[in-house]
Amino acid sequence: MGTRSASCHCGQLRLEVAGEPLAVSTCNCRACQRRTGSAFGMQAGFEAGQVTVTGSTSDYTRVSDESDRKEHVFHFCPDCGSQVFTTEPTEPDIVVVLVGAFADPTFPPPTDSGYDSRRHPWVGLPDSVRRHAPELWWDSAAPLYAAGRYVEAAEKGRELIEARPDQPSLFYNVACCQSLAGRGADAVEHLARAIEMWDGCREMAKEDADLDPIRDEPAFQRADDVRAGQRSFRRRGPRRGDGARRAPPQGLRSVGR
Ligand SMILES: [Zn+2]
Ligand SMILES: [Zn+2]
Repeated sequence: MGTRSASCHCGQLRLEVAGEPLAVSTCNCRACQRRTGSAFGMQAGFEAGQVTVTGSTSDYTRVSDESDRKEHVFHFCPDCGSQVFTTEPTEPDIVVVLVGAFADPTFPPPTDSGYDSRRHPWVGLPDSVRRHAPELWWDSAAPLYAAGRYVEAAEKGRELIEARPDQPSLFYNVACCQSLAGRGADAVEHLARAIEMWDGCREMAKEDADLDPIRDEPAFQRADDVRAGQRSFRRRGPRRGDGARRAPPQGLRSVGR
């Protein structure tokens, strides 16, 4: 199993990393732009046992803007200030290494681009990179949803879809709002599209009380059958759904903003 070395600018803080990363992603959020001094951050997640740290660190902790409100601890060299790795107190088994610290152009490329709506437009991505922009919803439609203004939230969501038709979470969230607004046919249509684009929406839909108003419609079962054959949704007890705030996983969580 190969090892890679990462280090800070001055060489005081060093990491030896064995084996391949669990996930590699970029993050275009404004917090990452500020913390890196670059157009985007890039990070690779490893199991803690793969990583050996040598040298001293200083830490800066920031709470994520995302709904999980997780703490992210950024570890940097006290001498030169380079950030080299991050950890999350709630996930002690994972160490996230900032890919620039490897200074290795052969490092595996990212599979996911987080906060994609904040990406500098000149930064091109291969088609294989999944682009996640749930922040579009959080910024404009989520407050309407939270206030129970489902018709307006759905309308806002449709505008967002016009601008970013590649985001399954937008289709899903619009479906939730339309379901709650009594627009069952529209809701089923958007849900089917969301599931077609990202199969994870199927599991979310099963647990989401926002979709209870449309759950018994035959078209709802057909939406679920888009790719998975003859399975049907089970009806769940009433639970105020938070589905409209969920989004496809980013591979690695980012601090957001
Ligand atoms: Zn240093
Ligand atoms: Zn970020």
